[in-house]
Amino acid sequence: MLIVMQAQAGEEQVRAVCQKIELMGYRPHTVAGAGQTAVGIAGNTGEVNASAFEGMPGVAEVVRVTKPYKLVSRDFHPDNTVIRFPCSGAVIGGSELTVIAGPCSVESREQLFAVAERMAAQGVRFLRGGAFKPRTSPYAFQGLGESGLQLLVEVRERFGLLIVTEAMDESSLELVERYADVIQVGSRNMQNYSLLKQVGRATKPVLLKRGMSATLEEYLLAAEYILNEGNQQVILCERGVRTFADHMRNTLDLSFVPAAQQLCHLPVIVDPSHGTGRSDKVLPLSRAAVAVGADGLIVEVHPVPERALSDGAQSLTCDQFDEVMAQIRPIAALVGRSVPAPLSTAAATLAASR
Ligand code: PEP
Ligand code: MN
Repeated sequence: MLIVMQAQAGEEQVRAVCQKIELMGYRPHTVAGAGQTAVGIAGNTGEVNASAFEGMPGVAEVVRVTKPYKLVSRDFHPDNTVIRFPCSGAVIGGSELTVIAGPCSVESREQLFAVAERMAAQGVRFLRGGAFKPRTSPYAFQGLGESGLQLLVEVRERFGLLIVTEAMDESSLELVERYADVIQVGSRNMQNYSLLKQVGRATKPVLLKRGMSATLEEYLLAAEYILNEGNQQVILCERGVRTFADHMRNTLDLSFVPAAQQLCHLPVIVDPSHGTGRSDKVLPLSRAAVAVGADGLIVEVHPVPERALSDGAQSLTCDQFDEVMAQIRPIAALVGRSVPAPLSTAAATLAASR
């Protein structure tokens, strides 16, 4: 339920509404609009009695929210959520397209530094790389664990890149939260509700990837778990879903982007690497994702993809990644977004020699 206040309602009147909600045992969420304030109610399992609020001073109307999710909904939060990283000036969900790039897994210092240097030269602000890897086979490379996280921190110190890395379970979350700038929750964990509650209590933004068979509503409800615990900094990521089509690893559902943006205020990015599973398809689908209005891309890049310990078939070389950046710049401009500028050759050489 959403209690919409009159344009001239005073702070006292808004506070009285919030207090009443608390007295009922629920949580008020104040949403400041352009001319009007609204107060949402969270924490209720059943219907809330609208008449309790209708006659209160300053209340314009009481709107029933019929969707099962609330905090992620534009009804509760009409403006886009913009996630800021004050230490670097980077944002997610603003007018600058967010590009997150790097290897699927952190494999070694040489591998990570080789990619990071090229990403930084492109003006990329976020480096991805998994230290805890959810692998289909128990015999496949499982990630370097904490030493992988330490390498990511070295890269952050050296190149100023912010770190995006996955927490697979509650024990890895403790470590990831300590080292990372953005905590990734992978597709396979989109419906791991105890992990969602735990990242909801974390102090870092969460990149929540879409489950491989999740509907839009199931996905938004998963994000709702995180916001409901207090963490409002959530980024959605379309990474392909399972369909009958088998010409690629997954079917990248680009229609998800405008559908989610209409209903939900959280940033929506696209992963064309897992979405296709094939490096030669990452470029065309990156272009398409930017054109459809995604807030960003997350792309796998490896210095030598054929030697990658995970997801080599979908990883770009650094040169191929440069081409993606070159081709998305004009498309981003057409849809009113900027792309971080590449460092000048001189600045890149200086950064590399530091
Ligand atoms: C990944 O980002 O490397 C990954 C495992 O992604 P997903 O959870 O989308 O499969
Ligand atoms: Mn991967």
